[in-house]
Amino acid sequence: MDMNPQALRVFIRQRLAAGHLPQEKGPRVWSEPGQGEICDACSLVVGHTELMMDVPSDAVTRELHFHVACFHAWQVERAASGPHLNGSAALHSRGTAGDGAF
Ligand SMILES: [Zn+2]
Repeated sequence: MDMNPQALRVFIRQRLAAGHLPQEKGPRVWSEPGQGEICDACSLVVGHTELMMDVPSDAVTRELHFHVACFHAWQVERAASGPHLNGSAALHSRGTAGDGAF
């Protein structure tokens, strides 16, 4: 993983806005050594020497996988992108996150 933190945050913010990453995570998160999974945040492989965060989410039908740093960045960006905490409705409303400059 060689993306700098600032670029990573921007990238994750864009993925959240585009609906590629959910606003919600499941109730439990765990970690295990990477198995060559693709990180859902930065799209890079989680190597065998890295720790991978497994995140089941109601918003997606599969587990999400993250590098540890990407997971933290996702947490930060989720918190920063608004209080959509009960946002199953947000899943179905597309195109609301264009240039929401407030
Ligand atoms: Zn990553």
